[in-house]
Amino acid sequence: DTQKQTLGFQAEVKQLLQLMIHSLYSNKEIFLRELISNASDASDKLRFEAINNDALYGNDHELKIKVSFDKAARTITISDNGIGMSRDEAISHLGTIAKSGTKEFFGKLSGDQQQDAALIGQFGVGFYSGFIVADKITVESRRAGAPAAEGVRWESGGEGDYSVEQIEKVNRGTDIILHLREGEDELLSSWKIKSIIRKYSDHISLPIVMQKEEWDAEKSENVLKDELETVNQASALWARSKSEITPEQYEEFYKHVSHDFAAPLTYTHNRVEGKSEYTQLLYIPAKAPFDLWDRNKRGGIKLYVKRVFIMDDAEQLMPTYLRFVKGVIDSADLPLNVSREILQESRDVKLIRDGSTKRVIGMLEELANADEQEKKDKYQSFWTEFGQVLKEGVGEDAANKDRLAKLLRFASTANDNDQQTTSLEQYLSRAKEGQDKIYYVTADNYIAAKNSPHLEIFRKKGVEVLLLTDRVDEWMLSFLTEFEGKELVSVAKGGLDLGALEDEAEKKEHEETESSYKDLVEKMKEALADKAKDVRVTFRLTDSPACLVADENELSGNLLRMLKAAGQ
Ligand code: ADP
Ligand code: MG
Repeated sequence: DTQKQTLGFQAEVKQLLQLMIHSLYSNKEIFLRELISNASDASDKLRFEAINNDALYGNDHELKIKVSFDKAARTITISDNGIGMSRDEAISHLGTIAKSGTKEFFGKLSGDQQQDAALIGQFGVGFYSGFIVADKITVESRRAGAPAAEGVRWESGGEGDYSVEQIEKVNRGTDIILHLREGEDELLSSWKIKSIIRKYSDHISLPIVMQKEEWDAEKSENVLKDELETVNQASALWARSKSEITPEQYEEFYKHVSHDFAAPLTYTHNRVEGKSEYTQLLYIPAKAPFDLWDRNKRGGIKLYVKRVFIMDDAEQLMPTYLRFVKGVIDSADLPLNVSREILQESRDVKLIRDGSTKRVIGMLEELANADEQEKKDKYQSFWTEFGQVLKEGVGEDAANKDRLAKLLRFASTANDNDQQTTSLEQYLSRAKEGQDKIYYVTADNYIAAKNSPHLEIFRKKGVEVLLLTDRVDEWMLSFLTEFEGKELVSVAKGGLDLGALEDEAEKKEHEETESSYKDLVEKMKEALADKAKDVRVTFRLTDSPACLVADENELSGNLLRMLKAAGQ
């Protein structure tokens, strides 16, 4: 089909376009960062495909990104000689949003511009950010390996629709041509564009080139020469030494690799030598992505081998419970033609994963154990965003279980709110004299946990109980049976032994009470024979007359409810 065709945007794209143009206007320079980031990704993809098919390069091996402008036509063009797009790819990549959960995401937008701008940042703006400054975008592209006649022109005014047609394109790759809106002419200057590139895209490892500009005395103005100059440092940021990288550069690099719009919470950058040699630059995002729970989502680690991009989402490089970590790992040992299959079995990969896991845990410990309030606050905000995912590690990562256990935070009867702020160490430091257990209750939500009748005796004795209400808690607890030699015990389990917390006089009194109610208990057992396994006198309640408990070796009531809900 070579005819020009007009197609409608997916509804969510239309919504995104409208919102973005207004809410991100004050930050409009980011359009260049996003388009250069895409050009860099496209070059990475070509390099990767070319590992097994060198012919894709044709006679053009030097990957670069060119930014140019035309004052008369009022356009800015970003060109790359990367992987390019076929007609079908242009339609699906530029006409729809492929991320899962997109519909739900747009359902959450409030209409309040400031709030929505922050949300959109989390979502990632990407290609469409061009429409902040352009009222028309023309994309001309040809996929690597396709003949010159099979180029595609995609064009849109950023309203409801776009057109696609087949064109002849001499060079492989993509040109993005922005037709600037009225009033955006200040962008039509070498100086302006260079300063934006240096600010946001200096970390891009490919050269970003522009035509040189020189003062022409005769014309008495700057004129563009044919000669090109490289505007950025054009070296892999993670390979530079830490002392040469500014916090802003770390931040912009994060935005590039993560497709996130907001700054990261924290990061770690190290060169590791020894059994395996590699560099890691790993970031923790400030906010959980809206698709954190989508197990098929694009992973966060880019794998490089000696500076050459190998793949996105190298899931073998990070355990699942750290799937929120973003960044780059560059190995000096892996072969360039490494495949996902090889990754699975590689000893080097295992060393890298173990080392990187420890780094991430170390980075979290540094925040969690810091004296500075700012770092403590960062840890708390990390916990709020990603705590539930980190809990999966207690079950998945036996080698690091003890370190992970120390990073856990819970709501507790010691506080009067649902915030998860209490660590197990803190709990133990507040334990009563003679208390040799860590007590917890599980429930569907905080209110239910807080009002559990099982807590009455603990309240009376002033013993703290952890309130566990996340879905993963029951599962996690099956792996976390003790902490620093102290058993974790559910207050809802039968035969609860308060041990040394009970004094002699109380014990005697209890025995007397039990014997005086013996007949009644027997009658109740008979009456409830097919409903309850046992009936006992309890001293755990202070206000409620009775409560149901699970047998010591049985599943708890909450887990039973969960399994039933899951249809088991
Ligand atoms: P993201 O970069 O997060 O995937 P974007 O909105 O920036 O989202 O880009 C959407 C998609 O369009 C990209 O994933 C890519 O497939 C395609 N694309 C954009 N720019 C280019 C380009 N210069 N070359 C090839 N493909 C591109
Ligand atoms: Mg992008």
